[in-house]
Order: sequence, then C-alpha cells, then structure tokens
Amino acid sequence: MTTLLLHGGATDPAAPVSRAGGLPLVPEGFVWPLCAECEGAMQFIAHLDRGAVVVSVFMCQNEPGLCQEWDPAAGGNRAYVFPAEGLLPATAPAEGETRLDEVSVLTARRVAAGTYGEEDTFGPVDGKDVLGQLGGEPYWLQWDETPDCADCGKEMGFVAQLDRVANFGGGYAYAFVCDGCRRAAFLWQC
Ligand SMILES: [Zn+2]
Ligand SMILES: [Zn+2]
Repeated sequence: MTTLLLHGGATDPAAPVSRAGGLPLVPEGFVWPLCAECEGAMQFIAHLDRGAVVVSVFMCQNEPGLCQEWDPAAGGNRAYVFPAEGLLPATAPAEGETRLDEVSVLTARRVAAGTYGEEDTFGPVDGKDVLGQLGGEPYWLQWDETPDCADCGKEMGFVAQLDRVANFGGGYAYAFVCDGCRRAAFLWQC
C-alpha cells in the first residue's frame, strides 16, 4: 500500500489539518525561523498532522536558489516537531517571502501498491492532483539522502514527500523526524 497526499481543495489558513501553505500552528514562545544564509524570514511550507505531534516545515524563498534551501543542514530551511496539544497560529513576519499563495489541504488516500514518483505511476486520483505521499519509502530523484538526527545520530524516519506545493526546483521535497528526540529535518532534490 501507498498513502498518497491528494490536493483536497482550499482551506482556512490556520486549519488544524495537513496542508501546504497558510500559517504554522505553533507552541507559545515560538520564534519564526530566519535563514542562516540571507537572514530573512523563511516561508512556511507545510503542516503535517502525525496525531500526537505535528511536523511544521519552512524554507527560505527570499533569494531562491541562493540559500541552499534544499539542504537538510545548511540553515536555508527548518522543520519542527510540535506536540499537537494547544498549538496556535503564528503571526507571519511583515518582511520577506513568508507565505505560499495558496492553502491546499493534503488529503491522505491509501491506494494499491505502486511506487510513488515513478513516471506515470500516479496521475490525478479521482480528479485530484497528487501532491505527495505520506510515509512509505521516499522516492529519491538522486541518491538516498536520509538524514541522521543531529541530536542522537540515528537515521531519521521518513514522514512525507511533497511535490509542487512550493518551489522545489521542479523536484521533490522530503520531511523526516526523529521521534525520540522530537527533531525534524527537511530537504529537496531535483
Ligand atoms: Zn535565505
Ligand atoms: Zn534523535
């Protein structure tokens, strides 16, 4: 089985559902991440619901292509794991490319076996574009770039792959977590 993420239509910017775009739902005291390269405010990319926790993904789009925003460790992107309880929408900074133009629900849909990403494997499903996959095995465009946790050093677990929802250079983006350390990582390949 493969769990696809389908374009489930538009929604409220602060909806507590898996989505691309809108506003991040964050714990008290959250500080919007700045890019290590250009020092601008990052763009909020996606809110991924994992039940007891959410994964929240950001990357810099102030100087597309110049901030190593594809790299899991260069500081041009940022991903967080937050306990799901008590999160509130963050306020986006006034300056910088902080929001996507659209808010798109990511609807999980289990489908029969098939390797997500292989050419022509998944066209639209029920007329809905496939915007990624949830869990399963990452479909790498280049080499296997599964990151190790920066805290414990263990290989991180694959959460989701995203396509088209933001500027991934025409490629795919990948989110990972270390559940033990509550640390997340993000990268993309094209
Ligand atoms: Zn930057
Ligand atoms: Zn860890």
